[in-house]
Amino acid sequence: MSENLYCDTRGCCQQAVPFTQAVINGLAEGGGLYVPEHIPTLTLDEICELAHMPYAKRALFIYQVFGVDLPDEQIDLLMQKSYGNNFDTEAICPITSLDAQTHVLELWHGPTSAFKDMALQCLPHFFSASAAKLREEGKLEHEFLILVATSGDTGKAALEGFCDVDGISIGVMYPHGGVSDIQYKQMATQKGENVCVWSVEGNFDDCQTGAKNVFGDTEYAQVLSERFNTSLSSANSINWGRLMPQIVYYISAYSQLVAEGKLEAGALLDICVPTGNFGNILAAYYAKRMGVPIGMLFCASNENRVLTDFINTGTYDISDREFVLTPSPSMDILVSSNLERQLFELTGRNTTSIAQWMNDLKQNKSFRIDPETFACVREHFSADSVDNDTCLKTIKDVFDEHNYLVDPHTAVALHVAQSLRGENPVLIASTAHWAKFGNNVYRALHDIEPSQPLPEDVASLSGCQLNELIAQETGMCNIPAGLAELDELPIRFTEIISNNVSSIEEAVSTFLDDQQD
Ligand SMILES: *Cc1c(COP(=O)(O)O)cnc(C)c1O
Repeated sequence: MSENLYCDTRGCCQQAVPFTQAVINGLAEGGGLYVPEHIPTLTLDEICELAHMPYAKRALFIYQVFGVDLPDEQIDLLMQKSYGNNFDTEAICPITSLDAQTHVLELWHGPTSAFKDMALQCLPHFFSASAAKLREEGKLEHEFLILVATSGDTGKAALEGFCDVDGISIGVMYPHGGVSDIQYKQMATQKGENVCVWSVEGNFDDCQTGAKNVFGDTEYAQVLSERFNTSLSSANSINWGRLMPQIVYYISAYSQLVAEGKLEAGALLDICVPTGNFGNILAAYYAKRMGVPIGMLFCASNENRVLTDFINTGTYDISDREFVLTPSPSMDILVSSNLERQLFELTGRNTTSIAQWMNDLKQNKSFRIDPETFACVREHFSADSVDNDTCLKTIKDVFDEHNYLVDPHTAVALHVAQSLRGENPVLIASTAHWAKFGNNVYRALHDIEPSQPLPEDVASLSGCQLNELIAQETGMCNIPAGLAELDELPIRFTEIISNNVSSIEEAVSTFLDDQQD
């Protein structure tokens, strides 16, 4: 396959770079995001053929057509590591059909039971391989510390993905008292020699600001380089290496539906995605561009409905918007970083417009797209939002009607799919196992309002015990092992640190010191 290079959305990079360099750089020079110069296309036959190979081979094929600059045998090996028995099903992301026209793509069969595993079981291997390649070519000397601030889900998925990967350490910070019992135990019990977890005083914002300040401290970067031969990286969702694994599952899902006789080859499929940073739905758009017969993309928001309003009005405005806490916390986002890539594609790759809008957003906390681009948005996307009450009611309704239990993020998408769907069958991206959000699933099943406390006897249960109770009540006994065993695992990380830069830096240095011993 011919090599593909990566340019940036704001037209600031002098030179396009290969995949490996884009993965290591993360963010492009000038603040833009990396995008492939060339979007490959597939024939319908090629797409349908994929269902007849194991998932790892499908991923290999897609990486090859994207011209990833690593040897085929190496990509093959890395994909087998990424999508093997670390998932609890050979299908990796199986599809459950609620009826002939409603198909749920279960993206939560990985080790942490959330869809971020689909990307974060894969990216770390490619990050490590990319770094090794650049070292060989003399373009890189140091090692990496991945520093992540998390509100819950991403931190655990990143820990699990980078755990024991060569040449990389990972440190995760979460807000002290600000994550659920399950999320806390998932992180605090993390195995691996190259991992560290800190509970940070303050809320998630304090945590994130703390991390940003560490990234911005050039003096500390010098210390890391001289003392530890290390530099910081975030491997966050703007990294192209996190997006590409997500394109794979949409192409794969289409192929699977055809192979299972649920869809005629060539028939249009609409896709509904519960959206936060716009990464997951952007991946579906790229699958469409690559030739998968996809009709409309439904963008599902919770009460933080900035994306829904944008898709319905053409104006992205966070100047007067309050951040709301919802039962679907992984979609509680105001600045959707991957929207930049989407607009780049919809403007016909107009870097001037993108740079302008992103600057407007920074300066005025809003931007408005031109009428032609807005027409393009409307051609591919429609959007709706779901309030907290409706989210929980949907969990109950879907359970009563289909005997299928969904998490609050998936519920948002299911409800939006019902309100926006037309004639085409719909594929719903299901992004978490219900047992990651047992509190709100319990509320839903017992008609307790989203903001109301749980009854005392229920509130006193651990996350695992609550899940067992729900499993007994519903007969849904398929709680993933990684969640069911949490009460039994030893807590490894108990350190609480302050959110100022020097405390975080001291914690990082101590961690790296211990690693060198
Ligand atoms: C991260 C996340 C989302 C949002 O995905 P984006 O790619 O940010 O749009 C939705 N659901 C769950 C469970 C998530 O963890």
